[in-house]
Amino acid sequence: MNPVFADLPVSVFEVMSQLARENAAINLGQGFPDDAGPEDVRRKAAEAVVDGWNQYPSMLGIPELRQAISAHYRHWQGFELDPEREIMVTSGATEALAGALLAVIEPGDEVVLFQPLYDAYLPLVKRAGGIPRFVRLEPPHWRFDEEMLAAAFTRKTKVVLFNNPLNPSGTVYGRAELELLARMCERFNAIAVCDEVWEHVMFDGRRHVPLIALPGMRERCVKIGSAGKIFSLTGWKVGFVCAAPPILRVLAKAHQFITFTTPPNLQAAVAYGLSKSDDYFEDMRRGLQRSRDRFAQGLKRLGFPVLDAQGTYFLNVDLGPLGRNEDDETFCKRLVVEHKVAAIPVSAFYAADPIRSVVRFCFAKRDQTLDAALDRLAGALRHTA
Ligand code: PMP
Ligand code: GLN
Repeated sequence: MNPVFADLPVSVFEVMSQLARENAAINLGQGFPDDAGPEDVRRKAAEAVVDGWNQYPSMLGIPELRQAISAHYRHWQGFELDPEREIMVTSGATEALAGALLAVIEPGDEVVLFQPLYDAYLPLVKRAGGIPRFVRLEPPHWRFDEEMLAAAFTRKTKVVLFNNPLNPSGTVYGRAELELLARMCERFNAIAVCDEVWEHVMFDGRRHVPLIALPGMRERCVKIGSAGKIFSLTGWKVGFVCAAPPILRVLAKAHQFITFTTPPNLQAAVAYGLSKSDDYFEDMRRGLQRSRDRFAQGLKRLGFPVLDAQGTYFLNVDLGPLGRNEDDETFCKRLVVEHKVAAIPVSAFYAADPIRSVVRFCFAKRDQTLDAALDRLAGALRHTA
């Protein structure tokens, strides 16, 4: 058995969802909305199953979807992609990440990763033969600077894997940090694999800046998106990869032996969805922002130190300033068993030297779910661990 997988624990999302089921808890752990998703998009998918094409689609994705992705990014992010040569559809961002990492890493290459890191990254990097080099981000701001990057990049750096907005912290990195990262990529001749699945889920008027659109980055960036997050349909697993033709050609070779294609009906529905008017996307952001504010206010009333949440479905609390001697994992286990609310301990997002005081809650839920969770959380801090 390959130790990269044989020695892995079960994903923290699966563990916490299972504990939530066993304890009849409200699940604010794994990130998924409790809303059914836009009805018109779901109907398009149903129509496409009944009346449409159900055989293998084109390996790169159906042309309507590749054109819709190109038009969508032109409109929302202001840059041009050639739908024939620079866009590929994958089965979720997870497949896109696996394919990109397998395609660009050669055994022995160094890969710069930011901690906290999404759980899929490290096993995929290791399985591709990459050697991880970590940049450690910390609460409350989770920011990085030149010195932190300089300590991680070396002559052997081939890839930097960058998640913006960042899951779990909900941090949105803006132009200054992106320019810094772009300079490092140019200086060390590295490729940036950009996990931008949360690109539409950001609040307070923020706008996403894609690294690929910065000067000099077009030839050294892989941009990854996910319809699951854009349409609150996390089970759909329709992802997209954008890269300059010399990179995309190699990524397509990896894709052809991982999944080869993605269900054509869901692709057709996503193509329809990406062309929806601005109102849909603005309403989605406004609705989630309202939920964030409702939940943050409730948590603050209960005495939780709430961290800033600029994007994603997640709100974090930092128990550190409360001076308790209960770490995030113990707190989350106690929370799900005694208070019937599941959350995610953020230490699970660190491969080394974890932050052990931060707990992540998913607020992409109906008001009544959030309010019920807040009722159950009353008293959770009273425990004198
Ligand atoms: N990357 C990040 C940062 C994520 O948060 C997620 C899912 N929440 C994914 C990748 C996976 O996306 P998909 O479901 O499209 O595979
Ligand atoms: N990305 C989701 C989260 O952060 C979980 C996805 C999964 O369960 N693998 O909660």
